[in-house]
Amino acid sequence: MEPFAKTGGLADVAGALPLALGRLGVEIMIVMPRYRGIPSQQKKIAENVSIHFIKHEVFFNRASLYGNKNGDYPDNLERFAFFSHAALLAAKKAKFKPDVVHVNDWQTALGPVFLKTKFLNDPFFQKTKSFLTIHNMAYQGIFPRRLYEVLELDPALFSMGGFEFYGRINLLKAGILFADALGTVSPAYAQEIQTKEFGFGLEKVVQRRASHFTGILNGIDTKVWNPKKDSWIEARYSDANLEGKALNKAALQRSLGLEIDPGIPFFGMVTRLAEQKGLEDFAEIADDFLSQKVQFVLLGDGDGVYHTTFRNIGARHPKNTSIHLGFNAKEAHQIYAGCDFLLMPSLFEPCGLGQLISLKYGTVPIVRQTGGLADTIIDCDADAENGNGLSFSGRFSKAFFQTLNRSIKVYKDKQRFRKLQKTGMRADFSWKHSAQAYKQLYQRLARS
Ligand code: ADP
Repeated sequence: MEPFAKTGGLADVAGALPLALGRLGVEIMIVMPRYRGIPSQQKKIAENVSIHFIKHEVFFNRASLYGNKNGDYPDNLERFAFFSHAALLAAKKAKFKPDVVHVNDWQTALGPVFLKTKFLNDPFFQKTKSFLTIHNMAYQGIFPRRLYEVLELDPALFSMGGFEFYGRINLLKAGILFADALGTVSPAYAQEIQTKEFGFGLEKVVQRRASHFTGILNGIDTKVWNPKKDSWIEARYSDANLEGKALNKAALQRSLGLEIDPGIPFFGMVTRLAEQKGLEDFAEIADDFLSQKVQFVLLGDGDGVYHTTFRNIGARHPKNTSIHLGFNAKEAHQIYAGCDFLLMPSLFEPCGLGQLISLKYGTVPIVRQTGGLADTIIDCDADAENGNGLSFSGRFSKAFFQTLNRSIKVYKDKQRFRKLQKTGMRADFSWKHSAQAYKQLYQRLARS
């Protein structure tokens, strides 16, 4: 949860949604592991919202959240089983009797299971319902069968109708089966995960529970992401005053050692370096694309193979390319503010925040039509009036390349490009609407 710990979009969601719900009068107790560097214990952080950190020196005082260079931490099952259990106990200890326990992803998918097993007869949770949000179906929390006893659950639950997944333990699967209601972070993704292509082996399980699924788009935290107030960027600006954006572009070109020229279309990527993000497709077309009069900056962290891929791309195109391998919040803000276009050729994207942030910063998103990207980005050639970006579909990098070339044409038509920027900046992707939708969902669930 932002600002305490972050590896990707879930942190943005966890940081913003509870506060937006708090403003709507929902009382919330957030529970998260006390990862390294998090100072305090329990505290109130906003109206109606408190946070409680679960402390465990061995499990959580580590350099990263889920793993290191060598892969996932081998004791992740113990770590998150402990956490899910401790979170429910913490609610009891705080005498915070929840109407709904809202858990996220495999790390806390055991919450709904524990409520219906270990806590089944606990009067404290008699009326409590559970809700599981899936932020990314590609991460399921899969562990060897021999670790099952760690969960201290009935061995009979290691079955097709429970944890068992091709002979191994699958926490997300159990969560999907046990939660009273389920959600994903965009309507399109809620449909997609029922198919073989996007279900990662759980499509049948999702289909079984399809009537309990809702897709609610994530918002962005406009306190963090706002070009009018952003103190990390060179100049502040708004849709009524886009000159400030030009200053950010020049500052970014300067700091990256690129040619300072407002006329060169400047493309950026801020991303986890993972297969999901469509990086192979970018690599395939990189040489053709970067041989043109364009500039490109990548800020990314993740899989070592992609570190190498992008280092090599940078080495082949040193004049107009800048590659930054690492996680850096400030640089991310400067890229969103300074670039003309943001690339998100993701193979799948449950919601995606990058495209929403870039819209807010007048940086035109170029996306593959999938999941939340399909739900939020309208191609300007398909719909001149409402268009807010450019998009392509299918699995071929050629379509991506053609769309990049299309974007260069759009860029050269100054008036058209301005209109695109402004359409994006004026859209409201704050949490207001989504928080309202979550509140209604909780209320329905609590009454059911
Ligand atoms: P995902 O959750 O799959 O990583 P999202 O688009 O939902 O993708 O969210 C990504 C979030 O993480 C955005 O806020 C983005 O700006 C941020 N981010 C991703 N990579 C980096 C990085 N290398 N440095 C700084 N911020 C990053």
